Amino acid sequence: MEVAIVEDEPKLVALLNDYLLNEGYSTRLYSDGSEALQQLQSSLPDLILLDLMLPGTDGLTICKEIRKSSQVPIIMLTARVDEIDRLLGLEIGADDYICKPFSPREVVARVKAVMRRAVPAGDSVGSATDDLTISENTAQMMFNDKSAALTSVELMLLKTLIGQTGRIFSRNQLMTRIYPDNRVVSDRTIDSHVKKLRQKIQALDSSREYIHSVYGIGYKYEVEEAGKT
Ligand code: CA
Repeated sequence: MEVAIVEDEPKLVALLNDYLLNEGYSTRLYSDGSEALQQLQSSLPDLILLDLMLPGTDGLTICKEIRKSSQVPIIMLTARVDEIDRLLGLEIGADDYICKPFSPREVVARVKAVMRRAVPAGDSVGSATDDLTISENTAQMMFNDKSAALTSVELMLLKTLIGQTGRIFSRNQLMTRIYPDNRVVSDRTIDSHVKKLRQKIQALDSSREYIHSVYGIGYKYEVEEAGKT
């Protein structure tokens, strides 16, 4: 799981970074708001810790911009309690707010809580727009009355992609989800798992395409009629 820390106070960044790495998260660090927005828009992490006052683009604007296209969890960091009330009133779409000064331990706890809420719960995961579903208990995916067995890697891969329909995952992000033990695998390993998964889906439903490659970035799940892309 990857957390982006968007914060311009170096000491705070170092502290948060240490704690998150220690908890097994990978991190991306940005101290400038404009750079952060640009980078985050081209590739999203699993969660964003976002300071309100930043050089370049401020946290409020960054949050609003990201919300136009993504529901990635965002935790806002602010130096003033009264700011939180104002932010809540603006309904900018952040998932949580933390007031400075905070303990890094508290931040990590909030990160975990927000991540838990963001991950779809229950056994069957399917997006609202299609009828491909997966069962973790039986390691199968189902389409109408047909089903196909999945390997554990394919199951994790499909669960990750289907859980956030439309979101583009980098190969790296997919790897950290599929192999939680941080083992090093090559990009081609992911590509070959995706290829096999696509073949299995194709056998269930050849009229539509589900997993799309996004050139230079990675993969996303979106149901489209075959031949459109
Ligand atoms: Ca700041």
